[in-house]
Amino acid sequence: AMNERESMFLVTEFAAQYFQKQLWDTEEGKAIAWTYFKERGFTNDTIKKFGLGYSPNTWDALTKEAQAKGYQLEFLEKTGLTIVGEDKTFDRFKGRVMFPIQSLSGRVLGFGGRILTNDKKAAKYLNSPESDLYHKSKVLYGISHAKQAIAKNDRCYLVEGYTDVIQMHQAGIENVVASSGTALTPDQIRLISRLTKNITVLFDGDAAGLRASLRGIDLILEEGMNVKVCSFPDGEDPDSFAKKTPLHDLLAYLDTEAKDFIQFKASLLMREAQNDPIKKAELIRDMVVSISKIPDRIKREIYIQECSRIMDISEDVLFNTLAQLLKKEV
Ligand code: ATP
Ligand code: MN
Ligand code: MN
Ligand code: MN
Repeated sequence: AMNERESMFLVTEFAAQYFQKQLWDTEEGKAIAWTYFKERGFTNDTIKKFGLGYSPNTWDALTKEAQAKGYQLEFLEKTGLTIVGEDKTFDRFKGRVMFPIQSLSGRVLGFGGRILTNDKKAAKYLNSPESDLYHKSKVLYGISHAKQAIAKNDRCYLVEGYTDVIQMHQAGIENVVASSGTALTPDQIRLISRLTKNITVLFDGDAAGLRASLRGIDLILEEGMNVKVCSFPDGEDPDSFAKKTPLHDLLAYLDTEAKDFIQFKASLLMREAQNDPIKKAELIRDMVVSISKIPDRIKREIYIQECSRIMDISEDVLFNTLAQLLKKEV
């Protein structure tokens, strides 16, 4: 008998086809979803490349169609596409534009669905629930489209959202993946580390994006990888920025603004601490905490020297702090 995961893949892959068909071949899809993607600046080629689609604004359109085609309710439910209630079953993603989330090899693991308005009361994005196929902490959106470019460029750009990945691709930068709605995890970083040891974090230019990049830095260092950070102007994300910036300027921006993590932290921390010595001390400690995450001893030493130079504090003090932190870990 076919195993359960394979039965689930049949359902997710049918659904991905179904959502695309709704987008391209129905009046509702064209009027609502296609128009939405066009307003976001996506070309037809881009929409097709990422398999974007539309889930009709009907309670059980997908569930009914899938069952009529012989797909079992059991697997519609197990993949999270259908919600089975007490006395009725309904589609999880009703009335949303759909982003299929694919494995490294391009199989459909689950979906992200976005509402079409900017209504602050409704959840903007809804993702498939955890299942035997979809483990949100292990997937990276866009990995199947990005893997070759990541290996070729020996660098991976890490962004927050689906549309950031898509817009960067459309601009011509293909070595991009997104953590998509979860804080970056060690499993996600390990997936990248099979392709490159160099990550540039491109998080949104807002407080949440800054927090997420700071968390991401330490995790990436812990995996023994090199991390740079590139910030965006306040209120911009890679999607909005890539959309209005010609490729040549976009590449130049990524090149000049991407700072090694220690430089990034230093400039951020200096801005915050100003001339407050207590704050400055806390911030230096924070930098040493990041350095302590690096598994390689030689790299740690080099970063301590750099930190000493940038922050104008003796290497001895920094090495002592580092030694204390490393002792605590064992
Ligand atoms: P858009 O440009 O479509 O408005 P975005 O990708 O810029 O969306 P952000 O608000 O910056 O959205 O959030 C980053 C990512 O976090 C999203 O792409 C999505 O994966 C996830 N996310 C955002 N809001 C939610 C939510 N309410 N539930 C689950 N995940 C969410
Ligand atoms: Mn954001
Ligand atoms: Mn964003
Ligand atoms: Mn955005």
